[in-house]
Amino acid sequence: MSGLKILQKTEALHEARWWEAEPGGKVHCYLCPRHCHIGEGQAGFCYIRANEGGKLYSLGYAHPAALQIDPIEKKPLNHFMPGTKIFSMGTAGCNMGCFFCQNWDISKSRSDQVNSSYIPPEDVVLLAIRNGCPSIAFTYNEPTIWGEYVIDICQAAKEYGLNTVMVSNGYITYEAFHDIYDHIDAANIDLKAFTENFYGKITLTHLQPVLDTLKWLKNETNVWFEITNLMIPTLNDAPEESRQLAEWILENLGPDVPLHFTAFHPDFKLQDKPRTPAETLHGARRIAIETGLHYVYEGNIYSDGANTVCPSCKAVLVERSWHSVMKNRLTGDGRCSKCGYAVAGRWMNPRGKTAAKIAARAQSVADAKYSDLNL
Ligand code: SF4
Repeated sequence: MSGLKILQKTEALHEARWWEAEPGGKVHCYLCPRHCHIGEGQAGFCYIRANEGGKLYSLGYAHPAALQIDPIEKKPLNHFMPGTKIFSMGTAGCNMGCFFCQNWDISKSRSDQVNSSYIPPEDVVLLAIRNGCPSIAFTYNEPTIWGEYVIDICQAAKEYGLNTVMVSNGYITYEAFHDIYDHIDAANIDLKAFTENFYGKITLTHLQPVLDTLKWLKNETNVWFEITNLMIPTLNDAPEESRQLAEWILENLGPDVPLHFTAFHPDFKLQDKPRTPAETLHGARRIAIETGLHYVYEGNIYSDGANTVCPSCKAVLVERSWHSVMKNRLTGDGRCSKCGYAVAGRWMNPRGKTAAKIAARAQSVADAKYSDLNL
């Protein structure tokens, strides 16, 4: 999480959604498939949903612990407004227990162990506008666990004409799914492996709920979504597993959902595995393309596998170097400039340009209240 801007925390508790009271002052949180039963004065597994006096509160609400402006390709999203900037934010906590977490300094912290500052939903949007970002990403830690804040930011974002993006592990219940994703424009969902053994032992969760979320996204929403599979040597990098994962995507989501195979580096509790060799990503990409997926990428390495290629004539349409777009040969409406094939994605800003009056207001609010932020 190097380079993130860390803020200072203030302000009061915000009552959570997606909970019910239980006997003895306990509460049941049903936001994610962990279904925590939380005693008075305690927090759920994710650290940032706490029982105070028999009510559940969202400790992450309006308290981002990390704010940064990223290229949208870093989420990664390669088929949603390529080459644009995205205002990216996260809080403390997480509902998974991944041994390889690359943002463990915030995801494995309680809300009182990170520095944060009070930023209400509308101000997040104004900060994004002031920094020239047409979209906001909920990212770095798991945004599902601060879903109340996500929803309120999304509602403000729509009023100002900004897009919103979830970067998520997909571990959410159906009871909460539409409440959140009906407000979202795009998502990247981690499919961390394709075995229950990996999910159970390395993430302390289960595979099936993540697969369910991917199917709900496909069948029940208009959200543009892409999938990331972080490949960890010996744990989830077997060619047969990559083939099964690609076949499941093809069969359940279709060939047009982009799949990103990304390289692991040793971090947190998984220091004994080496970095992922480039050849592992090349091999997985070859398998997924052979399987029939149209858009398969390699990430966290320099490679031609970062480029978007026309599935029909094989012309290179978007050339990338790491997270930078070097050339974009798509037509304005996302067609191959050589053969006219319509490439799946959202290529133009569906919400248009920010009005000058709104930009001026964003500037004045940001100057007045957030001049200490060095974004
Ligand atoms: S969101 Fe947090 S408190 Fe709620 S069930 Fe999941 S881990 Fe538990």
